[in-house]
Amino acid sequence: MVTNVDNNIVAVNQTFILITGYEEKEVLGRNPTLLSSGHHDTEFYQRMAADLESLGQWQGEICNRRKNGEVFYEWLSVTALRDEFGQLESYVSLFSDITKRKKAEDKIYRQANYDSFTGLANRNLFVDRFEHTLELAQRDNNRVAIFFIDLDGFKNVNDTFGHAKGDMLLKLTTERIKESVRKADTVSRLSGDKFAIILSGDNDVFSFEKIASQILDKIAKPFHLIEIEAYVTASIGISIFPDDGSTYEELLSKADSAMYKAKEKGKNNVQFFTKEMDIKAQQRRHLEVELRKVIVNKELILHYQPIHQVSSNKVVSAEALVRWLHPIKGLVPPVDFIALAEDIGFITEIGGWVLEEACKQAKCWQSQFDLAPKISVNISSVQFQRQDFISKLEAILAKTQLAPDSLILEMTESLLIQEDDQTLIQLSAIRAMGIELSIDDFGTGYSSLSYLKRFPISILKIDCAFIKDITFNAENEALACAILSMAKSLGLKVVAEGGEDYAQCQLLTKHQCDYIQGYFFSRPFEEHAFIAYLNDNI
Ligand code: C2E
Ligand code: MG
Ligand code: MG
Repeated sequence: MVTNVDNNIVAVNQTFILITGYEEKEVLGRNPTLLSSGHHDTEFYQRMAADLESLGQWQGEICNRRKNGEVFYEWLSVTALRDEFGQLESYVSLFSDITKRKKAEDKIYRQANYDSFTGLANRNLFVDRFEHTLELAQRDNNRVAIFFIDLDGFKNVNDTFGHAKGDMLLKLTTERIKESVRKADTVSRLSGDKFAIILSGDNDVFSFEKIASQILDKIAKPFHLIEIEAYVTASIGISIFPDDGSTYEELLSKADSAMYKAKEKGKNNVQFFTKEMDIKAQQRRHLEVELRKVIVNKELILHYQPIHQVSSNKVVSAEALVRWLHPIKGLVPPVDFIALAEDIGFITEIGGWVLEEACKQAKCWQSQFDLAPKISVNISSVQFQRQDFISKLEAILAKTQLAPDSLILEMTESLLIQEDDQTLIQLSAIRAMGIELSIDDFGTGYSSLSYLKRFPISILKIDCAFIKDITFNAENEALACAILSMAKSLGLKVVAEGGEDYAQCQLLTKHQCDYIQGYFFSRPFEEHAFIAYLNDNI
C-alpha cells in the first residue's frame, strides 16, 4: 500500500485486496484508518507517526479489520520515502497476514497456562502469579492470602448424577468463585474439585474472612444442572504471607492443612492456618452482632472534652466522644469499634445517634449558660459520603432546635484528598448552612496543604502525635510551628490536641496556638461532670 504525504491511499496491490477484502477503487483516496480495528489506542498511532518522522521507518505487529468485519493480525513495515531534497514524497507499507501464527501462539500460551476445562489459571501460571504478587507485597508491605478450596460432597454428585453433571457443577462453581473476588486476584483449579486463590492488596485478616464467607454462601446455593438440582458446600483453608511463610510451597501446604481443619470442623466453613487468626475472626463476628444492637439496647453514651481558648483560658467548645457501655466489658473506647462500624456500614446509625445526642446536649447547655460552648462532632467519611447526609443533618438541627453556628463537624483528611467535586459541593452546602468545618488529626495523613485552600474549612486540629513530644523533639516542634504559621496565613483557627502538661501548653502558646484540647486542662467528662466543669470555666 502506498499513501501520499496526506496519508491518503494512492496504490494497493493484488495481495492487499486478498488480505483486506477491499477492492482497489474502494480504498483509493481514503485514509488507511479504514482498516483499523479499534484495538490500538491513539498513543500507539502517535508513536508510529513519531518513529516515521524521526527514523523514517516503523515496524511491528498491528491488528486490523477486514472489509467483512473480521479482525486480523499483520506484520507491518512502513517506510517514508523522501526525494533528493529530503522532502517527504510518500509512505510505502508492506504487510503480511500473521493471523494463523498468532492464533497458534495463543493456543500454545493458553494450553501452557490455563486449565482447558474451566479456563482458570493452571498450576504453572498460579505459581508465576504468586511469585509476582509476593514481590509486590514485599515492596508495599502488604499481606497476601492463599485460599485452598475443596468442595464437600462433590463425589456424591458425580456418583449420583454422572460425570457430565459433575463437570457442569465444576464450571458453575468456577463462576461463583470468580464473582467473589476482584479481577486482579488469581483463581486456579489445582485438580478435580480443588481450587486455590491468591488474594493481595492491603487486605487484612477480616477482609480475607469476609471474601471466604461470600464464597461459601455462593457455593452453598443450589446448582441447577438441567432437570436436576444438586447441592455442595465448600471447605476453605487460608494461609497468609508473611505470617505463615514466604514461599509458595509453604503457604500452599499450610492453606491445605487449614482446609482439612475446616473439613474436621464440619465442612462449609473457613479456617486460618494460624489459630490466633481464627480466634480474631471469630471475635470480630461476635462483636459485629453485638455492635448492631447498641442503639436498640441504648448502650452508647457521649463524653465531652473541653476545648480551651489559650488567650482567655475559657472553654469555647467541646468535642463529643462516643463510648460503648458494654454490659460485660464495661466502657469500650471508640478505637475498638468505629473501624468495624465503618466496615459494616453501621457507622451511619451510630453517627446519626451521636449527632442528635450531641446537638441536644449543646442546646441544653445553652439554656443553662450565656456563653455555652459550641459542640464539635466527629463525622466518619463513610457517613459523610452517604447521599442523605445533609438531609439528616438538617432534620437533626430542626428537631433539636440547635442553631447551626453552634455546631462544628470534624472531618478527617482522607475525605479531602479525594479529588471529587461531590465532596466540595457537600462541604460547601454545610458551610452555607452556617456550620463550621474542622479537619481532625491533621498531620497524621497526607497533610496536603493544597486542599485546605480548596475546601471551606475554618479549623485545623493538630494531632496528638505531634504535640506529644514537642518539648523534647525539635523536629516536632518545628513541624507544629510550621503548621501553626501556615494555618494562620490561611486564616484558620488551630486546635492542638493532646496537650498533656504545662510545658507543652506553654510552648504551644509561644507559637501562638489559639486553642488547646488535652489532659492538661481536662479529660473527657461524662455529661454531669462536664456541666460542673463549665460552671467554673466559662
Ligand atoms: P479524635 O477525634 O482525634 O479525638 C481525640 C481523642 O484524643 C479522644 O480519644 C481523646 O480522649 C483523646 N485525647 C484528648 N486529650 C488527650 C491527651 O491529652 N492525651 C492523649 N493521649 N489523648 C487525648 P477517644 O475518645 O478515645 O477517641 C478516639 C477517636 O475515636 C477520636 O479521635 C475519633 O476519631 C473517634 N471517635 C470518637 N467519637 C466518635 C464519633 O462519635 N464518631 C466517629 N466517627 N468517630 C469518633
Ligand atoms: Mg475529633
Ligand atoms: Mg483528633
